[in-house]
Amino acid sequence: MLFQGLAEKLQETFKKLRGKGKLTENDLKAALREVRLALLEADVNLAVVKNFIGRVWERSLGAEVLESLTPAQQIIKIVKEELTALMGDTRSGINFSATGPTTILLVGLQGGGKTTTAGKLALYYKKQGKRPLLVGADVYRPAAIKQLEVLAGQIDVPFFSLGADASPVEIARRAVEHAQRQSQDLILVDTAGRLHIDEELMAELRSMKEAVEPQEVILVVDAMTGQDAVNVARAFQEELGLTGVILTKLDGDTRGGAALSVKSVTGCPIKFVGTGEKLDTLQPFYPDRMAARILG
Ligand code: GDP
Repeated sequence: MLFQGLAEKLQETFKKLRGKGKLTENDLKAALREVRLALLEADVNLAVVKNFIGRVWERSLGAEVLESLTPAQQIIKIVKEELTALMGDTRSGINFSATGPTTILLVGLQGGGKTTTAGKLALYYKKQGKRPLLVGADVYRPAAIKQLEVLAGQIDVPFFSLGADASPVEIARRAVEHAQRQSQDLILVDTAGRLHIDEELMAELRSMKEAVEPQEVILVVDAMTGQDAVNVARAFQEELGLTGVILTKLDGDTRGGAALSVKSVTGCPIKFVGTGEKLDTLQPFYPDRMAARILG
């Protein structure tokens, strides 16, 4: 289960604290040392951990906390607030266009789950009454275009592509025109991914972004790759500019560090998480619920 190791360690630390009654500065220091270790073991980015511990320390030191009647509870509350803040405080949803169709570019490396997530988003928003159009623009992997077409068929959502010979920019542009004609109001573009980040990929994505001015540019990234996922997010943010991140494979054997690090490192909120291979396994990401889950 996601965050199981982290949750168990933190709960143990806080149980000890609660058992002590009145707390000294040294008790606080010892507890925060354990929290620090637990976060590092969960693969949270080192700089993020340092900042986090620093903030909790500052807020907990004052007499109002340590000399209060329930110091341990107050410290747990502070940790919970800071964990929530780390993940972006509030739910960050899709920014829909007020006037025309909303375009979302899904970007990422190959194998991260982009194509599957395009299908998941289409199903999620179809259920909410939107009219999605799935667009296959991964021209380097014709199999990916086919895969998306099959997914579209499974969830009965229209599909658009111009095949592997067209340019991705042209596909995206024509998809928007097509959506407008067909009154589809949510355009989900599955872009090409590569095994590594390269300048050619970024240049092409920048051209697509310029051509269709999407409301959202969302990185889809595999949470199981841990801090690599965070580094990939940072690179895409710097080179392309992102509006959000979707972490996939949170059902897998991940320690969860990416979920706790992405927002602080890149400034981009996590909008959804993927928790399975099936198309109905996409969940909105709620920072406060995630923090509550970690603290039990
Ligand atoms: P793309 O290359 O980025 O388009 O990646 P795909 O959408 O083809 O996904 C790669 C693999 O990851 C496929 O086998 C998907 O079924 C799988 N996958 C995608 N999202 C998830 C997820 O949230 N959980 C699990 N367990 N597998 C996923």
